[in-house]
Amino acid sequence: MADNLPAQPDHSNGANLPSTRHTRTDEPTARAGWLGEILPAAVGGFGVTWATMFRKVLTEEYPEEKRPTAPRYHGRHQLNRHPDGLEKCVGCELCAWACPADAILVEGADNDDTPAEEGGTGRFSPGERYGRVYQINYLRCIFCGLCIEACPTRALTMTNFYELADNNRADLIFTKEQLLAPIQQGMLPAPHPMVAGMEERDYYLGKVAEATDEQRAWAAEQAAADAADGATAPATAAADAAAMTAEGGAAR
Ligand code: SF4
Ligand code: SF4
Repeated sequence: MADNLPAQPDHSNGANLPSTRHTRTDEPTARAGWLGEILPAAVGGFGVTWATMFRKVLTEEYPEEKRPTAPRYHGRHQLNRHPDGLEKCVGCELCAWACPADAILVEGADNDDTPAEEGGTGRFSPGERYGRVYQINYLRCIFCGLCIEACPTRALTMTNFYELADNNRADLIFTKEQLLAPIQQGMLPAPHPMVAGMEERDYYLGKVAEATDEQRAWAAEQAAADAADGATAPATAAADAAAMTAEGGAAR
C-alpha cells in the first residue's frame, strides 16, 4: 500500500526549506502593499464622515423640544371619572393582582349612602365600593399595561406622559390624588350621590352626561356643614384650652 503514496521532499538537511528572510529587492514591493491597504481604508473612512456631515441631523434637543409619543404609548397612569365626577374605580384590586411588578396598592372601602346630617361621608363611585387608597410605585412599574387590561371598569388607563424622574424614592410613589383625572366641565368632585333615578349600570351605559343640580345642591350643603364644623371646632378647642388653664390655675 505504501508503494502508491507520492514521494515526499527530503528536508533533513534544510536545503529545500523556503527562506524566511526578506531580501533587499523585496522591500519596495512590501511598502507599496502596506500603503495600498491603508490609503483606500482612510479615504473610505473620511468618505463616510463627509457623507454624514450633509445628512439630516437626528439629535433631539430634549428637554427643550419634546417629541410627541406614539398615540398608544404606555406612560403615567390615570384614574378616570364618570361625567358627573364620580370615580370609576370600584376598589376591586384586580389591577394590583395583575401587576407582575407588585407596583400597585389598592385598599377598597364601602360607599356610604347615609344622609350627611346622620354622619354619612357620601359616595365616591357608583359601585358598592370605591378605592379608598390607591398607589402606584413608579420605581417598580415596567409600563407593561397588564393592570389596565385587568381593570373591569376602564377606571385605570395610561397617558402619554413619560417624564417620571426624581431625586428621591418617596416622590415616585404616586397617590390616588395624583393619579385621579382632573375635574372637567360638568363634573363635581366626589363624594356626592349618584344622579337621581340612575343605577350603577346606567353609568356604564353612558346615560349620565354631567352632574345634576340636585347633586350640586347636596355638595353645597355638605360644604356648608363642613365649614360650620370647622368654625365650631376651633371655638370648642379654645374653650377647652381656657377651661384647662383655669383648672390648672385653680390647682396651683
Ligand atoms: S404597567 Fe405593568 S408594571 Fe406598571 S403598574 Fe401596570 S401592571 Fe404593574
Ligand atoms: S383601577 Fe380598576 S382594577 Fe384597579 S381597583 Fe380600580 S376598578 Fe379595580
